[in-house]
Amino acid sequence: MSKFFLEKYSTLDAYVPGEQPQDRKYLKLNTNESPYPPSLKVLDAAFKEASRLNLYSDPESKALTDALASSFGVGPENILVTNGSDEALNFAFMAFCDSIVFPAVTYGFYPVIANLNGIPYREIPVTSDFRINVDDYIGIGDNIVIANPNAPTGICLSDSDIERIVAGNPGNIVIIDEAYVDFGAESVVPLTKKYDNLIVTQTFSKSRSLAGARLGFAIASEELINDMKTIKDSMNPYNVNRMTMAAGMAALADSEYYIANCREIEETRVYTVYALEDLGFEILPSKANFVFAKNPKISGGDLYRKLKDAGVLVRYFDKPGLTEFVRITIGTRSQMDTLIEKISEVLS
Ligand code: PMP
Repeated sequence: MSKFFLEKYSTLDAYVPGEQPQDRKYLKLNTNESPYPPSLKVLDAAFKEASRLNLYSDPESKALTDALASSFGVGPENILVTNGSDEALNFAFMAFCDSIVFPAVTYGFYPVIANLNGIPYREIPVTSDFRINVDDYIGIGDNIVIANPNAPTGICLSDSDIERIVAGNPGNIVIIDEAYVDFGAESVVPLTKKYDNLIVTQTFSKSRSLAGARLGFAIASEELINDMKTIKDSMNPYNVNRMTMAAGMAALADSEYYIANCREIEETRVYTVYALEDLGFEILPSKANFVFAKNPKISGGDLYRKLKDAGVLVRYFDKPGLTEFVRITIGTRSQMDTLIEKISEVLS
């Protein structure tokens, strides 16, 4: 830390993204990326847009906002396009939250952005089987963020459970982070028309194979979106670059390709769960493109290290209550066969 770093940031515990070691070639199952590349139409659109990179991008992201609006059946005034959904989450925290609660087991970025923005937060315990108890969130008089499906468990709430939480806190903001919604969960985007305190965030990083392009968005009432735009325009007006915008529009237009990939990933998830159960794993019921799994024969940390030695990266969380587990991204069928083979070798 330099002597110039402000005191107020000196205790920040920054988010640690999944590792990307360069020392050898790994099978990367640690950051929930899609194993499928962007479609050819997306590559083509991004390539064509590259010739206009001398010009700033549209600060309103108008064409993409319109395309998202028609794809989600909401108005363009209900959408804010962001640089990854992490940025949408940060804007929402900054705009609306003087304090916030979230489940004790969830996406590790929430406490980080709360700390960055000086927002006090409270973590609500999950049940012994890692579920969110909806009743814990009714009438709590605080802002709420919930990932649905949750991370790193993959467990999801139904849309009626989420509606109870949103309706049960009319004086506070409820942010539903739907980063993994496209792998079999229900979206609550339609509820944004009914509730003025609901913000839904989604991303192109997972189901739409664009993690490296950094593209996300928020859907909410026009008033909430305008407030978030004020934050955006005060921080980074050209927050989404031209190539990403073009890629995002082409991805939306090519939804058949992405929907087929999601169904493939869901099938591979089922296949992987059975194969891991055969090896003695217990797996939480996931509706995401990852599974959270533990095996009584080996700790999460040991399994993570041994798999890394064998050239496979999975995610391990050195956090109380989670150390028995590893989180494994669902890749292609052949990638999962490699994983299963390596795990069998580690266990034998
Ligand atoms: N929410 C959750 C639950 C996530 O796991 C992630 C990915 N790390 C994000 C949001 C953010 O994804 P992105 O910024 O790539 O859209």
